[in-house]
Amino acid sequence: MSTLTLPEEAARRRTFAIIAHPDAGKTTLTEHILLAGGAIRAAGAVRARGENRRARSDWMKIEKERGISVTASVMTFEHDGKMFNLLDTPGHEDFSEDTYRTLTAADCAIMVLDAAKGIEPQTLKLFEVCRLRDIPIITFINKLDREAQDPMTLLDDIASRLQLDPSPIWWPAESGNRLRGMAQLGTGTFQPYARKTAGSDEDPDHPAALPLSDAAAHFEGSEQADLAEALELVEAGYKPFDRQAFLEGHMTPVLWGSALRHFGIDELLKAIGDWAPAPKTMKARKEAPPETRNAPAPEDVVVEPGKDEVTGFVFKVQANMDPNHRDRIAMFRMASGSFKRGMKLKVQNTGKQLSVNAPIMFFASDRELAEDAYAGDVIGIPNHGVLRVGDSLSESGMIRFAGLPNFAPEILQRVRVKDPLKAKHLKKALEGLAEEGVTQLFRPELGSDFIVGAVGQLQFEVMADRLGEEYGLEVIFEHSPYAEARWISGEKADLEDFASKYRPQMAVDIDQNPVFLAKSSWETGYVGERFPKIAFLKTKERG
Ligand code: GDP
Repeated sequence: MSTLTLPEEAARRRTFAIIAHPDAGKTTLTEHILLAGGAIRAAGAVRARGENRRARSDWMKIEKERGISVTASVMTFEHDGKMFNLLDTPGHEDFSEDTYRTLTAADCAIMVLDAAKGIEPQTLKLFEVCRLRDIPIITFINKLDREAQDPMTLLDDIASRLQLDPSPIWWPAESGNRLRGMAQLGTGTFQPYARKTAGSDEDPDHPAALPLSDAAAHFEGSEQADLAEALELVEAGYKPFDRQAFLEGHMTPVLWGSALRHFGIDELLKAIGDWAPAPKTMKARKEAPPETRNAPAPEDVVVEPGKDEVTGFVFKVQANMDPNHRDRIAMFRMASGSFKRGMKLKVQNTGKQLSVNAPIMFFASDRELAEDAYAGDVIGIPNHGVLRVGDSLSESGMIRFAGLPNFAPEILQRVRVKDPLKAKHLKKALEGLAEEGVTQLFRPELGSDFIVGAVGQLQFEVMADRLGEEYGLEVIFEHSPYAEARWISGEKADLEDFASKYRPQMAVDIDQNPVFLAKSSWETGYVGERFPKIAFLKTKERG
């Protein structure tokens, strides 16, 4: 039982995600953060866990074959009096929508750069998402044990390409075979690096930190003097760390290391614990579920993380890892309250109530089974399709958070099942996958086709695999005549007028919202000009 008050419990939560271009070292870093946090005892566990999952679920072969991760999960561990929730984001660009939703549940992001490569295309995209959502960023420059770019070049790149003030907290002494360690700015502290000796399997522990002036034994030639000189330049040339500027998204503290060699990881974890924000106050609307009798007028409210009522939102729905069960697990990010197992929560948008008797807490080690959770925590709620991405849940059922966006798909295909007797099954299966957010589903008003939309080709492959494995359906994707989908909104009469003229191209999405399927981007522009009273939208807020 916790002896802390509710606001204290919320204040000690750190919920963060790692963003990186594929191969920069996100998986390795995740593992070493868990090691540093005492959540796992040996390296290899994260990957082994992944392998197990893959063995059980065939569609994840795609992940394995392509060496990418397409599922997101969360790992929780307690360290140094704080509770850390590490959200795993898929790295491949085809899954940017999924990543986007996961980042809505994070309060901070760790941006991992490969020291030899600096900012890469996917780093930029993910960074943009963080900026859009005002998520503060801690930078970790990885792979110092390999030949790196000049550190100042790396920092200048952050400043010019991300318009973010880099504030180095440590400074590396050389890299690759000559990596000696790193010095902390403003303190004169030096953290030596211990190289693995030839023929040994074990990574040695890095020696304890010591004053740079006493560290001569760790350097060769003029290296120590070079480092002292570089430090002077760096301390004069870059702004000192300002937590407020970091929280506002103007500054990023920069740390260095090698995830693989467990170097710089304790320092990174400390930075997250000290600087990453606790769960924030969130804006919401107090609004009765639809069709409530005598419902009070909706009003804007702010949700304090330390207040009593459990509130939060579903940012992801994951299919059960066990293919024999149709259960889905809704990932529920708490915004406030003190959750207890067995609690009843209501879905604001539908008014449905559910008893959360078997919440899943994602402890990185299997040691603990939590009975309670607080703001910032993520709980997995098993359900049979009651919960959808974007749903707001609370004890009163009256709290509604701004929805998570759906993005207009970039590719639209027609999907057919090979065995016509299974057409009914196909509908259910497609709806299931759309509810999970794997792909989007559009049902044209005329005809019996299904149009499936995705932001990337890989999503179709995942989908085909899952339809086969989980639903026993062999499907064919065919070219569709449509190039773009747009949600439409406007006055009822205008919408009806438009729909009557474009009936063959009208469809509804999974929530029965009207969608216009355009044959080309030219056509989207054309109807936009011809029907100025109608908005043709590229994103739709859910929930
Ligand atoms: P992800 O795609 O971002 O998850 O990257 P991984 O963690 O899978 O790492 C990609 C590759 O880089 C793997 O072969 C790792 O062993 C390697 N790697 C990760 N971190 C380091 C590091 O600090 N130093 C070196 N030399 N290799 C690393």
